[in-house]
Amino acid sequence: MKILLVGAGLSGAVIGRDLAEAGHDITIVDSRPHIGGNCYTERDPETGVLVHVYGPHIFHTDDEEVWDYVNRYQTFRPYKNRVKTTSQGAVYSLPVNLHTINQFYGKTLRPAEAREFLEEQADSSIADPQTFEEQALRFVGPDLYAAFFKGYTEKQWGCSPTELPASILKRLPVRFNYDDNYFFHRFQGMPETGYTEMIAAILDHPAIEVRLDTRFSAEQGAGYDHVFYSGPLDGYFDYRLGRLGYRTLDFERFTDQGDYQGCAVMNYGDRDVPYTRITEHKHFAPWESHEGTVCYREYSRAAGPDDIPYYPIRLVAEKALLADYVALAEETAGVTFVGRLGTYRYLDMDVTIREALDAAAAFRASAAAGDAM
Ligand code: FAD
Ligand code: UDP
Repeated sequence: MKILLVGAGLSGAVIGRDLAEAGHDITIVDSRPHIGGNCYTERDPETGVLVHVYGPHIFHTDDEEVWDYVNRYQTFRPYKNRVKTTSQGAVYSLPVNLHTINQFYGKTLRPAEAREFLEEQADSSIADPQTFEEQALRFVGPDLYAAFFKGYTEKQWGCSPTELPASILKRLPVRFNYDDNYFFHRFQGMPETGYTEMIAAILDHPAIEVRLDTRFSAEQGAGYDHVFYSGPLDGYFDYRLGRLGYRTLDFERFTDQGDYQGCAVMNYGDRDVPYTRITEHKHFAPWESHEGTVCYREYSRAAGPDDIPYYPIRLVAEKALLADYVALAEETAGVTFVGRLGTYRYLDMDVTIREALDAAAAFRASAAAGDAM
């Protein structure tokens, strides 16, 4: 069958490869001049450092099949994400762990003592936290919330943490030991030569044709037996019901010599610092050696119509609009909506790959059964 994929990010590449191997004829279009979507990495022209152009990307998963999948296309080097945060004139370790708690409160608590201490700080009257703020007050209490989460989250999401769902904070663990690994997944690593090369290897199949600088329009879909769409869900329908909210990011690049900040990611918890974090890209590839260094200051703001959509906002008020778009998508024959933008969800790379493999398998199964596409 002739299949069109919109988007040459992870979703498009993984589905395209699977269906190409199954004997289908694949065309992938992307409006950008490069493959890789938001995972795109490239060499900084001045320093030679491999940069994560659309923000820092660390691969982590508990899904062994997905881990085997990415390792088929790239050598993954062991990498642990160890994030620091600057707040109120001091540097602390994230995610909140025993070191953070002891340093912040000037104490020498052992694990059980710290757990008890934080329980005393926390608001135990919140039985079932619904909002970001409730989740923070329930699990770390008002002091750590104010220092590390409130200001950062206001900058990142442009609204009060009382308007955001608790699920955003649930991404981060609180630990009562000195483990400062940002993630808790079994498999974690960094592609040795970058995500772009990994995705190029996935796309490297004779039945896959990639057309860059090509924006999808619904008429294009007519010449194909099926379309997989990983662009913005509301964009597919020309925003006819209104726009779903996104945050976009601006990156301010600067260079230095040697080591600028001593770690890959430094967050800034204070509200009066306008950026959320600084990424120093050379620390993502400690096996490489570069004299120069390149850093990105990251600023978050509401996405306008011409901005790149980064984070779906999913405020409570947007749920109804999203449900209406999902209903439209379900009525659209011959099109499968996939990925971060196509389903308007925050998806980590491993979940994106898992869902892409599942979407391709479901398509193959229904094609084999002769169902209408
Ligand atoms: P995308 O990468 O967004 O690809 C969609 C593609 O579709 C884009 O290339 C776009 O140009 C193209 N497109 C859109 N509309 C059209 C159109 N109309 N016509 C043609 N082409 C179109 N995940 C992790 O696991 N670990 C991390 O550390 C991590 N960090 C992140 C940091 C940031 C700042 C962000 C924003 C995301 C992060 N992620 C991380 C998530 C990761 O980026 C996603 O899981 C992944 O990019 C999703 O792939 P995708 O193909 O669904 O979407
Ligand atoms: N967060 C925060 N302070 C930090 C780091 C994260 O308040 O120093 C909040 C913020 O709202 C963020 C959420 O926790 O959106 C999830 O953090 P994560 O690091 O997973 O953010 P992402 O990688 O999605 O930018």
